[in-house]
Amino acid sequence: MVAADTPRTPDEVVARAAKATDLADLDRAVASCFACPRLVAWREQVAATKRAAFRDQEYWGRPVPGFGPTDARIAILGLAPAAHGGNRTGRIFTGDRSGDVLFAALYRAGLANQPTSVAADDGLALRHTRIFSAVRCAPPENKPTPVERDTCAPWLHREIELIKPTLRVVVALGAFAWAAWWPAMTAVYGVRPPMPRPAFGHGVLWPGGSASAGRTAVPAVLGSYHVSQQNTFTGRLTPAMLDEVLNRARVLAGLDAAGARARGD
Ligand code: SF4
Repeated sequence: MVAADTPRTPDEVVARAAKATDLADLDRAVASCFACPRLVAWREQVAATKRAAFRDQEYWGRPVPGFGPTDARIAILGLAPAAHGGNRTGRIFTGDRSGDVLFAALYRAGLANQPTSVAADDGLALRHTRIFSAVRCAPPENKPTPVERDTCAPWLHREIELIKPTLRVVVALGAFAWAAWWPAMTAVYGVRPPMPRPAFGHGVLWPGGSASAGRTAVPAVLGSYHVSQQNTFTGRLTPAMLDEVLNRARVLAGLDAAGARARGD
C-alpha cells in the first residue's frame, strides 16, 4: 500500500527530503520512495524472482537507506544497492561480495565492530562512519540513468546535510560516486566545484575547504576504486589498497590511523 506522503515524482522527492527532520525520518522516507518507475519495477521483479541461493528469504525490494551513526565523521559514498545484496537484506552493502570486502576493511580500520555484514539484524555497528549510495534503488546492470541519478540526489543531499556538523571526509567508491559528490557539495555547502573538476582515481584526494565566516568546512573527498567483484577479483583493488584509503580517511577525519581497532576508538 502506498502512503499519502510517499514520494512518487521528482518534485515529491525534493519536498520530502527537505522536510526530513533527522536521519531516522530520512531513512523512513527514502524507504518509501516510488519516484523512478523503471527502478521500482526492477527492484520488485528481483525481489519476486530471487536468486536460487536465497529463494527461501523474503527480499527487501525497496530503496535502501544509509547506515551508520548520526555523528559520522567519515562518509562512504557508493553507487547503488546490489540486486541480491542491499535489495535483499535492506541494508547497504550487506549480503554480497562487495560488502564482504568493504566491511572486512572497515573492521581492520577500526570503523566497524565486526568484519562481516550478512543481514540487517546481525549486530553490525559502524564507528564514526556512515555509508550511503548516490542512488537508493538497485538498478539493472548497476547502471542508473542520469534522470534516475538526479531524481534520487535530494535524498543524498539531505543525508549529507544532516551529518554536516561532524562530517570531515567522503570516500567516493568509484567514478559514479566521485561525480555525484560535486553537485552534492554545491547543494549542501553552497560551494562551487573546482574547475576543472578533479579526475577520479584511486587515492586521489581533493582536500576540501576550511570553515569561514558562518560556513562549515567542506569535507575532503578521497577516491577509491569501487569494491565491486570486478575490481577485487582481478586485483585492481586489493585489501592493502583499501586499508590505505580507510586509514587515510581516519587521519583526515581527525582520528588516529594506527592501532585503532585494538583501542576501539
Ligand atoms: S532511485 Fe531514489 S528517487 Fe528513485 S525510486 Fe529509488 S529511492 Fe526513489
